[in-house]
Amino acid sequence: MTQIFNFSAGPAVLPKEVLAQARDEMMDWHGSGMSVMEMSHRGKEFMSIAAEAEADLRELLAIPQNYKVLFLQGGAHSQFSMVPMNLLRGKKSADYLDTGIWSKKAIDEASRYCQVNIAGSSKDKNYTYAPNQAALKINKDAAYFHFTSNETIGGVEMFWTPMTGDVPLVCDMSSHILSRPVDVSKYGIIYAGAQKNIGPAGLTIVIVREDLIGETMVGTPTMFDYKVHADNDSMYNTPATYGIYIAGLVFKWLKSKGGLAAMEKTNIEKATLLYDYLDASDFYHSPIAVENRSRMNIPFTLKDASLDEAFLKQAQQNGLLQLKGHKLVGGMRASIYNAMPIEGVQALIAFMKSFAQANA
Ligand SMILES: *Cc1c(COP(=O)(O)O)cnc(C)c1O
Repeated sequence: MTQIFNFSAGPAVLPKEVLAQARDEMMDWHGSGMSVMEMSHRGKEFMSIAAEAEADLRELLAIPQNYKVLFLQGGAHSQFSMVPMNLLRGKKSADYLDTGIWSKKAIDEASRYCQVNIAGSSKDKNYTYAPNQAALKINKDAAYFHFTSNETIGGVEMFWTPMTGDVPLVCDMSSHILSRPVDVSKYGIIYAGAQKNIGPAGLTIVIVREDLIGETMVGTPTMFDYKVHADNDSMYNTPATYGIYIAGLVFKWLKSKGGLAAMEKTNIEKATLLYDYLDASDFYHSPIAVENRSRMNIPFTLKDASLDEAFLKQAQQNGLLQLKGHKLVGGMRASIYNAMPIEGVQALIAFMKSFAQANA
């Protein structure tokens, strides 16, 4: 098999061990004679797969008992409307932190249902940083406070949790969930599409505090009601069974690696390697404020953008794939999620060095 390193922002790299296990179990899961894809979601085999995945996720994130874990579909995009539909609960407004393209999308969608207060924004510096606690304007009548803890496109990560008093915190953690420990008890809702740091596309994970659910807006579709999914153990409709199975294998892999604290250590090591090289080089540049540099998605530019195409082409020839930055920001972006081995980062830096030398 060709050895490549896949720096895609999502769908993204998965642990080789997980893919190998899925391959081994593809035709016959644990002597059932069936592939997981063929199983009834209500059969005892799949029920055990889903229950174990939930238990392992609860253990990894130390999710308190008064939180529901939901395995949904529709991506983080559906959460942009599901959150206001479930959490407004008669209130007229919600606070949103504006830190980039994903928070903007969440804001635009929420604006269809309520008044959105921008509680803080980094638009003034083209979304290259995140506001700090002192800069937040929290409205105590807001139904909730929404933020995007890692802006996947901009490469801006927040390593602290906003303090919002009694206003429930809602966080889009799509692109860094499971990359480091987080204190779930500080949040009302955490949501994440699986295809960045959890598993295949098609699965969306929602962690929600029980007391927040059950009071939806008039007209909320049944499928958009958290309570319906909670009451039915995420099996109100047919869930993304294969995605849940792979996510479950990823959770086991994370446990075997020592859990999220160990994962954080490795992620710091990987990101530091790349940022140190970017900072030392005058050929490449990281536009992001040092305290907000994402450990998962690392955008960078070449000093001469006319070399971008050659860089991408030669990177590809060297087995370094999907390094093109998002079309809205340009430049390059290396996504180095949990499953990216440190060897991938080392190979990228070695290539960047030789490319810089050849084009100095
Ligand atoms: C990828 C991403 C989304 C969108 O996810 P979909 O599953 O495509 O809806 C939303 N927010 C963040 C932070 C993301 O990284």
